[in-house]
Amino acid sequence: MPWLWSCTLAYLISYLALPNIMAILLFFVGVWYLSLFSQTFFQHRYAAHGSFTISRFWERFFFLFSYITQGSSYMSPRAYAIMHRMHHAYTDTEQDPHSPNFSSNIFAMMWRTRMIYLGIDRKRVPVEKRFTKNLPKWDRLDRWGNSPLSRALWVVAYVTFFGVCYQLLVVPAASHRHYHGGLPRGRGQLVRT
Ligand SMILES: [Zn+2]
Repeated sequence: MPWLWSCTLAYLISYLALPNIMAILLFFVGVWYLSLFSQTFFQHRYAAHGSFTISRFWERFFFLFSYITQGSSYMSPRAYAIMHRMHHAYTDTEQDPHSPNFSSNIFAMMWRTRMIYLGIDRKRVPVEKRFTKNLPKWDRLDRWGNSPLSRALWVVAYVTFFGVCYQLLVVPAASHRHYHGGLPRGRGQLVRT
C-alpha cells in the first residue's frame, strides 16, 4: 500500500525527526552556498577579472577556503580564469569554451568545457598570452585539488559525514519517540527512560 508508506514516512519526517533533518539540510545548504561564494569571489571576480587586489596571505587563505568549500568540485583559479577570459573574448563563437551553440545538449557542453579546462590546467592546450596575465598561482594545491584521489576522498568524506549525521541525529530521535510512545502513562506509574 504505497499511501500507507507515504503517510508513515511523512509522519516520521514531520513529527519525529524534523529538527534533526533540518539541521543536516541547513548544514548542506550552508556548505553549498559557501562554495558558491568562494567560486564567485575568488575564481571569478578575483582570478578571472582582477576586480580587486588582496595580499599574498589572503590569496593563500582563499585558495584554501575554495579548496575546503568546493571539495570534490574544486577548480584551479588559474585554469578557471584563463577559460573564463576566453569565454568573454569569444562569447558564442566556436572558440568559446562553453557555448551552447556548439554542443548538441547540456551534457555535451559540460563535457567539452571539462576537456578544455583539463587541457588548460595540464598545460596541454596553447593559451594566448593576453589570457595569462596576473593569475593567482599555487601549483601544488591546484595539482592536489584536481587529482582524482582528492576528489574521491571528498566523496568518501561527504558520504561518511552525512551518514554519521543521519545515524547520530535522525535515527535516535525516531527510536526515542517510538520507545516512549509505547510506555504506559497512567497516574502514578513510573515511566522509565
Ligand atoms: Zn565573468
